[in-house]
Amino acid sequence: MVGSDAKNVQSVAVASDHNYVINGHKKWITMGQIADIYLVFAQCEGKPTALLVERNTPGFTTTPITGMLGARASMLAELHLADCVIPEENLVGSVGTGLSHVALHCLDYGRYTVACGCVGLGQACLEQSVHYSRKRRQFGKALRENQLIQKMITGMTVNVKAARLLCYHSGYLKDVMDPDSIMETWTAKYFASKMVNQVASDAVQIHGANGCSRDYPVERYLRDARINEIIEGTSQMHEMLIALHTIRNI
Ligand SMILES: Cc1cc2nc3c(=O)[nH]c(=O)nc-3n(C[C@H](O)[C@H](O)[C@H](O)COP(=O)(O)OP(=O)(O)OC[C@H]3O[C@@H](n4cnc5c(N)ncnc54)[C@H](O)[C@@H]3O)c2cc1C
Repeated sequence: MVGSDAKNVQSVAVASDHNYVINGHKKWITMGQIADIYLVFAQCEGKPTALLVERNTPGFTTTPITGMLGARASMLAELHLADCVIPEENLVGSVGTGLSHVALHCLDYGRYTVACGCVGLGQACLEQSVHYSRKRRQFGKALRENQLIQKMITGMTVNVKAARLLCYHSGYLKDVMDPDSIMETWTAKYFASKMVNQVASDAVQIHGANGCSRDYPVERYLRDARINEIIEGTSQMHEMLIALHTIRNI
């Protein structure tokens, strides 16, 4: 059951007559409850390798995971593979290229979408906060008249904008197939996921007790925000990746 240390994948695939036999399990698979086809990473000949497994493969089962802090619509599941026999044409790439060619590409795409999702979530926090601070009155005036509330609105505005620009830049580099897009995507994901945690926290603060209640969407925004520093590479993994890349290139 591997986490941040992706090279250390524990599932095993063994070649046998034009097939591969896969054994292993993996927790936290987004859409795992409903997907028809799964991209599985397993050690084959001792090297991380990518293979496609169809839901109806004998020996393949999924256990739903519920009760998560956030991203509750992710249909998370744990996958179990017990002697799953899959045809050799389900090998993606070649043996040993699972991480270097398949997973890294998937992660790059995933990080980009997470960064962009954080911008959307941050924008929603900002809009809810502005609407709420317009109608909620304390000390005889709307909350938004208070400079301490305005300071939070300013921080939210600037940080959402900065994350959006990092995403645009990363997207542009992807469009022109610039290899620097990988580093810019790390930067965008790292900044945007940290940004949205602060912005969602401020949104709850502006809503006071109402922000802690399910009657207002910012309660869910804060829970959803928390997930983004963990998925598609944690903030700590990004701190290592970004630092190493920067040190090597200056
Ligand atoms: C909602 C959700 C959806 C997910 N969907 C998927 C999915 O579809 N497919 C999939 O494969 N996985 C999925 N995951 C799992 C996710 O990729 C992992 O949670 C993530 O990679 C971190 O691994 P971990 O949880 O095992 O934490 P660990 O790797 O155990 O890390 C725990 C903590 O220690 C820190 N840490 C670890 N190593 C170091 C180090 N060397 N130095 C400093 N700090 C370190 C981490 O940053 C983290 O803070 C999902 C998770 C969630 C919550």
